[in-house]
Amino acid sequence: MFTFANMKYTVTSKETIIGADEFISRYRDVERIRQFCLQCPGYGKAWNCPPFDFDPRTVSDGFKTVRFIATIIEFDEQTRAACTSPEQAVEVGRQAMDEVWQSLLPRMYEMERAVPGSRCFTFRCVLCPEGCTRPEGKPCRHPDRMRHSLESVGFDITAAATDLLGINLDWSGDGSLSKTITLLTALMCP
Ligand code: SF4
Repeated sequence: MFTFANMKYTVTSKETIIGADEFISRYRDVERIRQFCLQCPGYGKAWNCPPFDFDPRTVSDGFKTVRFIATIIEFDEQTRAACTSPEQAVEVGRQAMDEVWQSLLPRMYEMERAVPGSRCFTFRCVLCPEGCTRPEGKPCRHPDRMRHSLESVGFDITAAATDLLGINLDWSGDGSLSKTITLLTALMCP
């Protein structure tokens, strides 16, 4: 497997607070977003991804405010230039996301603990290094700690990032490593 031990990137963040009703009315569109999920190779392979045996709207209903957070990974030019194939770009991007997520997830739980009744919305579930139990048809090992991503429960995070944070998600279409990768998370509060 390709690894890029000396890759360099910086991490910055941007966030905003918005009323939950407004966030839902502007950005929640469960059926439309599920069409994107259907194209993902991970669809149905982890318990925090659709399809669900419950209405995903219930996960984000009942809150008053949303703290919407972008964590931006920006690669330096040398790192980008050193990625000479689409496979390397994918692997370097994944490695950086995993590294950043390892420190970001505990902070999301801390934010949640600090606000009773709140719930964080995260990135992909990495709680089980041995792999998710869903493909085996077994229950989630950590239902108390597993959290959903905003997109998995029907939010258009691309539109929200553009409108609320002025961030255009930088999808590389030519197989090169994107200049930035942005992780979008949220804390919904009562
Ligand atoms: S906690 Fe484990 S079993 Fe549950 S969704 Fe995450 S990876 Fe799957």
